[in-house]
Amino acid sequence: MENRLVFHIDVNSAFVSWSAVEQLALGGPDLREVPSIVGGDPNTRTGIVAAKSIPAKKYGIVTGEPVSAAVRKCPNLVIARSNFDWYVKCSRAFKAICQEYTPTMQSFSIDEVFLDMTGMGKIYPDPIATAYEIKDRIYRELGFTVNVGVAPNKLLAKMASDFEKPNKVHTLFMEEIPEKMWPLPVGELFTCGKSSALKLKSLNIDTIGQLAKTPMEQLQMIFSERGALHFHNYANGIDDSPVLDEREDAKGYSAETTVEEDLVDLDSILQVILAQADIVAARMRADGGKCRCIGVTFRNLDFVNKSHQIKLKESTDVTDVIFRTAKELIKESWHGEALRLVGLSLSDIDRDGFEQISLFEDPDKEKRKALDASLDSIRGRFGNSAVQRASTLNTSDRINKRFKAEQENDRIKK
Ligand SMILES: [Mg+2]
Repeated sequence: MENRLVFHIDVNSAFVSWSAVEQLALGGPDLREVPSIVGGDPNTRTGIVAAKSIPAKKYGIVTGEPVSAAVRKCPNLVIARSNFDWYVKCSRAFKAICQEYTPTMQSFSIDEVFLDMTGMGKIYPDPIATAYEIKDRIYRELGFTVNVGVAPNKLLAKMASDFEKPNKVHTLFMEEIPEKMWPLPVGELFTCGKSSALKLKSLNIDTIGQLAKTPMEQLQMIFSERGALHFHNYANGIDDSPVLDEREDAKGYSAETTVEEDLVDLDSILQVILAQADIVAARMRADGGKCRCIGVTFRNLDFVNKSHQIKLKESTDVTDVIFRTAKELIKESWHGEALRLVGLSLSDIDRDGFEQISLFEDPDKEKRKALDASLDSIRGRFGNSAVQRASTLNTSDRINKRFKAEQENDRIKK
């Protein structure tokens, strides 16, 4: 096969970094430098930790735990409310920079992209220098750091960007696998969750290198044939999946989360879905869209996908409606099996603002819509006053400008 070249670009502690850029513009502390979390309600100290800074991690604070528990671990913890509409702007701004380097970019999540740099040698003869250029440009123009993984395929690029953080470029070429990847604990192999790692442990497999050398027949004692082949290939750095040139939001809006610890109870699944609902709804609102169809996807430990979707009577852009619908879909279709991936998708997008009037109008809908709108406008005003206060062009200003320019581009293309 042709030699490929893939970059994986991953924002370092994305939500914390993006909130830090937002707060810095308002004269707040740099959330990245202090023990801080994003998520929940800063006043009541309720809710769930959506993200944590590196200093907060040192106190043993983990994503997904209650804010009250995090505060017990670190009494002077700084708590920032999440602002998904702002995160969407940051995400779009960073992806717009990445997109300049190749025609083939895959948006993998709100803070990760894959770039297919294969055959770009004429324009960018030195891939490592190009990786540094992208990383430094994002920091200079937008004020937050990324890691870049440079490799011959998506799996290895993703593994490489996960090496030492933040603000680093790492390579992981085939010949580097024994030295850089094989000594790592098997749980660090992408898609190897806690329960898979435990199963491997029962075969005395602790490192990725040991997994790579284990015969398939042995792996089939603990995994399905498909699962065994998957882990055998991954441990050996084999991944033929293409970088899909997917324009974000071409058909709809979706988010997928591959979890580190398999999801085994409804509450943890719903926490992931809630975060996704916030993100996808904010992305859709940023484009002035409303969806008529909501779907959930999940993948079990044998890599079998299951999807379930529903068509709404009327289109919506309200986070709460989207979340509650997704919750019902999960309740109907999930039967308690451990999950490694959960996804939420919004499709059948209505962009002209036309809304059918239903005879069965949800009485709370207008209230909820008003809530979303007022939150958005408070955020908008908050951001604008911050921009006015800053004497020089700051990074949050640049993010807003770049976001507006992207929106303009989109309108022209449509
Ligand atoms: Mg990240």
